[in-house]
Amino acid sequence: MTDAHTHNLAAGPDAVINIEPDTQLPSEGSFSTGVHPWRSAEAATLWPLVETIASDPSIVAIGECGIDRLRGADMETQTELLRRHAILAENLAKPLIIHCVRAWAELLAVHASVRPSVPWIVHGFRGAPALARQLLDAGMHISLGEHFRPDTAAIIPPGRLHVETDTSSLPIREIAARVSAARHTKL
Ligand SMILES: [Zn+2]
Repeated sequence: MTDAHTHNLAAGPDAVINIEPDTQLPSEGSFSTGVHPWRSAEAATLWPLVETIASDPSIVAIGECGIDRLRGADMETQTELLRRHAILAENLAKPLIIHCVRAWAELLAVHASVRPSVPWIVHGFRGAPALARQLLDAGMHISLGEHFRPDTAAIIPPGRLHVETDTSSLPIREIAARVSAARHTKL
């Protein structure tokens, strides 16, 4: 069982650990890097760093990146930044890890215009089944963490469902068990 997204540097070897682009890449492990929407105002500094380290073999995914209506730069800047991450992910054939807050139409629009071949994993998804269905119908993957809706967990196909600790102090085993219980099946 893999932890699809965590900020815990001490996470196990099966975790994808998110690294800020302006910090040192640890020598061992699997990582993701990108400009977090909350730091989108610093994109001029951070984006070149992402481009530089993204091709490192230990970077297994691009992100987290995305759009957050409540924090960070204006929506246009964030949308453009997401598009850049998406194109980088395509070029490197690495999945994209997405943070999205109240910007689902914008996310779906970028997805439709990029038409990605790599998985787009919407992380920390807390939404209702109807929204999950929209994302799944578009072809996206969904990652569930400590807080999720059981009725949403129940409708995600196994091949497109991920679990994550993100900033939770719960072990990934516990989160996976809760997701499994909600699905009445084993992950
Ligand atoms: Zn995160």
